Amino acid sequence: MARRKKIYEGKAKILYEGPEPGTLVQYFKDDATAFNAEKRDVIEGKGVLNNRLSEYFMTGLNTIGVPNHFIKRLNMREQLVRACEIVPLEIIVRNVAAGSLSKRLGIAEGTALPRPIVEYCLKDDKLGDPLVSEEHIAAFGWASQHDMDDIVALALRVNDYMSGLMYGVGIRLVDFKIEVGRVYEGDFQRLIVADEISPDSCRLWDLESGQKLDKDVFRQDLGSLSDAYTEVARRFGVMPKQATHMQKPTLIN
Ligand code: 5GP
Repeated sequence: MARRKKIYEGKAKILYEGPEPGTLVQYFKDDATAFNAEKRDVIEGKGVLNNRLSEYFMTGLNTIGVPNHFIKRLNMREQLVRACEIVPLEIIVRNVAAGSLSKRLGIAEGTALPRPIVEYCLKDDKLGDPLVSEEHIAAFGWASQHDMDDIVALALRVNDYMSGLMYGVGIRLVDFKIEVGRVYEGDFQRLIVADEISPDSCRLWDLESGQKLDKDVFRQDLGSLSDAYTEVARRFGVMPKQATHMQKPTLIN
């Protein structure tokens, strides 16, 4: 089998060189990490579920004109994506207080926020992805003011779309994280949503019971993470047809 070049390996995904210039293959691993990788485990099948769910959400976003990197799913664990220059920020949108916001500001988990709140963290594992302000972003040149306007607009459109989609299947979208990347078209630069949108990067609570259906199940030892993600996939009708949990990258670096 042909070899291919590994471009980047993160905690939950691997990026390989794609078949055409300007494309990458994004491989979803089963590895789960939390607290900056202090807690780690392998959750069989997680990569398959996240590949399907991210495909579903990105395809929907494409349909409503929110530009993103997704091109097509290749197999159970891999998708073809557009290569982009990742902006070194994690963009977080919150609808309900939870996680680091509750801890930082002493606002009880579950408190509905008066409006969606957008926050930025610097993507830097060594520093533990610290919260940064627009002042920091401008001063250190991580993104321009024009980029920031586009980033907020993208993040809020993703929030509106994802909130409605989740509501339709009885899930409350508490918060989520996205990453954005730059693509160049002639002389123009455009920002697109990149990375993944999955229960790894969102907080999802069942609307009726409040049950957590996201990575907090792993972070807080609340039960089976794979059951939680399977429930999300089931509600969207994207359950993988065969159990191919053990599938490895089709091409080895
Ligand atoms: P918090 O700041 O409360 O820890 O996280 C806010 C939201 O962003 C949560 O939905 C969380 O899952 C997501 N998030 C924050 N940092 C990361 C990260 O480094 N990786 C992933 N996958 N999600 C993150």
